[in-house]
Amino acid sequence: MRQHKSDYQIAQKKILDSVLTGEFDIENRKNLGPLVPIRLFQILRMVALGSNLEDMLGDGSQALVYHSGQSLGQILGQAVMEQADKNLEVYVSQIEQLCKKLSIGLLIPETIDLKSGLFELRVDECVSCAGIDGVSSPICHFEAGMVGGIIKTFFDTNVKAKETKCNALGDDTCLIQVKLV
Ligand SMILES: [Zn+2]
Repeated sequence: MRQHKSDYQIAQKKILDSVLTGEFDIENRKNLGPLVPIRLFQILRMVALGSNLEDMLGDGSQALVYHSGQSLGQILGQAVMEQADKNLEVYVSQIEQLCKKLSIGLLIPETIDLKSGLFELRVDECVSCAGIDGVSSPICHFEAGMVGGIIKTFFDTNVKAKETKCNALGDDTCLIQVKLV
């Protein structure tokens, strides 16, 4: 196993530790405080993790964004897994609280069909696409990956997740469909 941690991994640990302990105060931001405008997040998401990536990778960029979201979903999932004690309802409600606290969006389960392994979760007020319109297909691949990662972690199985409604398409929410595979 690789021993050496990259600087990104070191930064990631610091960030996630504070997110998971609920510690939102930030050092070195005496004047500006811990919050940033949602548009800054959207620049990172749609430019850095969007059009720039597309320039380099073409269509593959969406898979990479999905994968990034999935990593976050797995991290959030693992963080609440123990407290949830294998109870899906408790698990989802803990994740809902985390997503709300992080202002990712309001996560609302629409369909939970354990028999067929089909899940649909709404992300209302989605951070990635709020205030964006006129797109030709759903653009919240990060959130699709995140919700997929959340479900994947609970069931410890592979999943396929896709966004079937998107606020930026004129739908009133972003709906993420997840299938266990
Ligand atoms: Zn969306």
